[in-house]
Amino acid sequence: MCGIVGFTGKDQAQKMLVEGLKRMEYRGYDSAGVALEVAGAAGSAHLDVIRRVGKVAGLESELEGYKELSTCGIGHTRWATHGRPSTANAHPHVSCDGRIAVVHNGIVENFAELREELVGRGHVFKSETDTEVVAHLVEESYHRMLAEGTGDLRAAVAEAAARLVGAYGLAVMAD
Ligand code: GLU
Repeated sequence: MCGIVGFTGKDQAQKMLVEGLKRMEYRGYDSAGVALEVAGAAGSAHLDVIRRVGKVAGLESELEGYKELSTCGIGHTRWATHGRPSTANAHPHVSCDGRIAVVHNGIVENFAELREELVGRGHVFKSETDTEVVAHLVEESYHRMLAEGTGDLRAAVAEAAARLVGAYGLAVMAD
């Protein structure tokens, strides 16, 4: 069973996320990753995603070289159910535009039909996981809501979740 952690505050998010993931190591996992929001010029922002197969300590070492300031992020330890343990299959998974990141615990039972539907609408998948459909579904809802002038991520996640069959937990962030 995997672990999910999220942080927003004043401290460096990567430290808090790694600490949270370490506390959940006892649950078992095969890979770990984080998505971090980084502020850019003139109010812009982007998401950096860092993932590794193996122990959280390996992810922690990689993050020691990460020098961006980020105070908001999500993290995950994965126990693979769909797709082998690999960097590409490790969470977080992102939307086509890289602006929405998702971590997921559990199984999306109807992922195959959702994936086919999303590919048919032009989405490009980068992993073998059931999880990635969530990032693309949220992307569609969120873009539509932005165009309508609302841009409500929570509502977009609720709309996407209504399409999912299965038992799961999710954390989602947008830049
Ligand atoms: N089904 C997802 C995957 O295989 C999540 C597994 C988990 O709960 O860690 O990536």
